[in-house]
Amino acid sequence: MRYISTRGQAPALSFEEVVLTGMASDGGLYVPETVPQLSHDDLAAMAGLSYAEIAFRVMQPYVNGEIDDETFRTIVTEAYATFSHDAVVPLNQLDANHFLLELFHGPTLAFKDVALQLLGRLLDHFLKKRGERAVIMGATSGDTGSAAIEGCRHCDNLDIFILHPYQRVSEVQRRQMTSVLADNVFNVAIEGNFDDAQAMVKASFADQSFLNGTRLVAVNSINWARIMAQIVYYVASAVALGAPHRKVSFCVPSANFGNVFAGYMAYRMGLPVERFVIATNANDILHRTLAANDFSKQELKATLAPSMDIVVSSNFERLLFEAYGRDGAAVAALLERFQAEPTALADAPLARLRELFASHSVDDATILEVIREAHHRTQEILDPHTATGYRAAERERGEASVPMVTLATAHPAKFAEAVVKAGFPGVPLPPHMDDLLEREERYTVLPAELSAVQQFVVDNRR
Ligand SMILES: *Cc1c(COP(=O)(O)O)cnc(C)c1O
Repeated sequence: MRYISTRGQAPALSFEEVVLTGMASDGGLYVPETVPQLSHDDLAAMAGLSYAEIAFRVMQPYVNGEIDDETFRTIVTEAYATFSHDAVVPLNQLDANHFLLELFHGPTLAFKDVALQLLGRLLDHFLKKRGERAVIMGATSGDTGSAAIEGCRHCDNLDIFILHPYQRVSEVQRRQMTSVLADNVFNVAIEGNFDDAQAMVKASFADQSFLNGTRLVAVNSINWARIMAQIVYYVASAVALGAPHRKVSFCVPSANFGNVFAGYMAYRMGLPVERFVIATNANDILHRTLAANDFSKQELKATLAPSMDIVVSSNFERLLFEAYGRDGAAVAALLERFQAEPTALADAPLARLRELFASHSVDDATILEVIREAHHRTQEILDPHTATGYRAAERERGEASVPMVTLATAHPAKFAEAVVKAGFPGVPLPPHMDDLLEREERYTVLPAELSAVQQFVVDNRR
C-alpha cells in the first residue's frame, strides 16, 4: 500500500512517511492508492468485539506491515484506554431509528481526541525508531489545540507548541490546554487574533530553517492518520446497529470535511451506507456546493458552533479526487480556479456526489431552537455542533427502516455559551474534569511577531 497525492505530482509515500508528512509537495493531500476491503464476513465477525479490536482490524491494512501487529495493537489499545466510557464511542438511542454516536468521551471532550490520541502515539513510535525528534506547531481557536496537546503529552520524541490568541479563547478551552504541565508542552498566547497565530504557523512551515534541520510536523486534519482513525467509529457503530445485514445512514456536523471523509472511506471499504448527510453552520460552503453547485469562498462568520467556522473545507479535495475519477490534473485545475474566483464542479462528478451525499445548513437561531427542541423530545442537551447535525438528520432522514446515526462531536459542557443562550443553566463538566477551573496553568504571552515565536520554539524545544 502506497499513498498518492490528490494533485498527481508528488511522489508516492509509505505509511510511515505519510504520517510524518503533512501536505504533499504539489499542494495536494495524500490518500491510499488502493482501498482495503472489508468483506461481508469480516464485518459480521466484528459483532461484539471491543472498540480497540475493531480499530486494529480496520486500520491494520493501512499500516501496511510497517508496524508489527503486536506493537500496533498495543498503540491502539493505549490510545483508546484514555476514553472515559467503556464503549469508547457509545451509541445513544434518541427515538425509533435516530441515534447519537457520542464521540466526546476522550480527554478533551470533542471528537478530535479519537484521531489525536492515536496520531501522537504513531508519531512517537516512528520518531523513536528513526532516532529523531520533531517539533509540532499549531494554531488553534479551540478543539484542535487541546486534543493535540493531550495526544502528545506523553510522547518522548515530540515537543508541541500551540499558539492561541491571547484572551480570545473561552476559559474552558484555554484551561484544557494550559493546565497540561508536561515538559514537552508549550502554550503560547499571541497578542493578536487567530489569523495572526495561524499566519505565523504557516510561515514557519514554509521556511523551516529556524529549526536547523529538526522536523516540523503538522497535526491538522490533512494528516492521513487522522482520517484513518476516524474510519473506525463508522464501522463500529454500523456493526452495532446490524451491519453488514442492514444499511445505516450517517449525519455529520462538518467543517474541514475530515470527519465525513472518513465515513466515505468506510463506505468505500465495503460498509453498507445508505447516505451521508452533511450538516454545516452558517459557514456553508459544503452545502452551497452540493445543493447549488456554488463552489466559492464567502466571508467567515462567527457562529455558536465555532469549531465549524471555516471558509475553505480542506479535506473536500480528497472527495473531489474520487468524484473526478482520481484525475489529479483535473483536481489541481479546479482548485486553482477556486482559489482565484467562484467556480462550479463539472456535471458528472457533482451527480456522483449527490447520489450518496445530502446536505443542510443550520443558522444560529435554529441551533438554539434545536437545543431546546431536542431536550424537550429526548432529555438530551446537545452541544451546538451536534445540534446542526440533529436538525439536518431530521430533515434529510429518508426511509424509516434505515437507522440514522448523528455524530455528536462535542460534549455540551465545552460550549456552555450556546447552551445558556438556549435557556439552560449550563452543563457540568464530567467528573474527571470538575477541578479544571482550579488547576494550575502555564503559558507564555508573546507579541504577534514571527521572530519572537520562532526564537521561543528554538530556546525551548528539548
Ligand atoms: C472539528 C470539529 C468539527 C468539524 O469536523 P471536520 O472534520 O473539520 O469536518 C465539528 N464539531 C466539532 C465539535 C469539532 O471540534
